[in-house]
Amino acid sequence: MESLTTTGLYFDGLSARAHPVRLRLGERLEIVGEAIRLDWSLLDLRAADTAPPLTRIGHASASGSVEFEDAAFAAHLATSSPGLRRTEREGGLVRLVLWSVAAGLSVVLIAIYGVPAAADRLAPQVPPAMEAQFGRAVEAQVVDLLGTPPLCANPVGRAALDRLVARLAGTMDLPVAPQVSVRRSTIANALALPGGRVIVLSDIIEKSDSADAFAAILAHEFGHLAARDPIRSLIRASGTSFLLSLVLGDLTGSTVLVAAGQAAIAAGYSREAERAADAAAVAAVDRAGGDGRALAGILERITAANDEKPGGLASLLRSHPYTAERATAIRATPGAGKAGTDSLLSEGDWRNLRRVCDAEDRTSPSD
Ligand SMILES: [Zn+2]
Repeated sequence: MESLTTTGLYFDGLSARAHPVRLRLGERLEIVGEAIRLDWSLLDLRAADTAPPLTRIGHASASGSVEFEDAAFAAHLATSSPGLRRTEREGGLVRLVLWSVAAGLSVVLIAIYGVPAAADRLAPQVPPAMEAQFGRAVEAQVVDLLGTPPLCANPVGRAALDRLVARLAGTMDLPVAPQVSVRRSTIANALALPGGRVIVLSDIIEKSDSADAFAAILAHEFGHLAARDPIRSLIRASGTSFLLSLVLGDLTGSTVLVAAGQAAIAAGYSREAERAADAAAVAAVDRAGGDGRALAGILERITAANDEKPGGLASLLRSHPYTAERATAIRATPGAGKAGTDSLLSEGDWRNLRRVCDAEDRTSPSD
């Protein structure tokens, strides 16, 4: 194999110091700098989610990571490191060219890898504008499938929600600013959709016994957005029809939308994806000044509540699976624990947020 070199920065994972290094890609990835000599197997390389042209590569079992901005180097790494998965994020022209051939290649990808792996490869490549358009259409489809529950737009409640969303999003690395809508429903659930959209069904606010609990649910959905789980899952679920629509250049075709809408409601994410979203949520709520471990309790409550509703939409709607083991893992997450002085949301904001589904004139600062 021909070797390729570039320059980059190495971070040891302990300090914030950037060490200039030279990277050489051959049978293995060599990272060489002053007092640094690493030799990583290509099988152990893992790409972090970064904005092009930056690529950040870590190691599956060692600490430390290396960053570089060489698109050609990133492309070679992507083809020679099977575990890299999310490296197909080269910027500019490379990305554009990749995308323009992706539609044609998708058929080949399916033949070689099958739909799930093709979805994993394509998800990070969907251009934001296209994903936004797809997200809008999928949300309309989902709202329709849910029986068009009314939008909750009490201005005071909405303002409090917007503050919470901004606070959480500010601590997370999200591909786009999230757009959260609340709809009046007796189902306690929330779901993330492509294009940074999140639908909150109002009973989950009722079931939240604290601002931290609700914030953790929101942050969990944001965790799915950060990992690009919705678009990946919908590509998987709609499979060939999604890929066919790429070829036809119409992501809002009715076949795709019906499949995507149903998948958004019914299909679940993997255990691994849920656990990653939980970890992201706990960390985000902690950073925002709350206690992310509140996620465990609210998960248990909504699972119990939704289990009580036999049949119908509640059982169709994707629940938050693996609740017991997730709650255990969440409670075991190390953290400072909340001192009680710091708050994610003021008492007043939390009270107002809980009234987001009230008619405007019923909102008052009393009681
Ligand atoms: Zn989830």
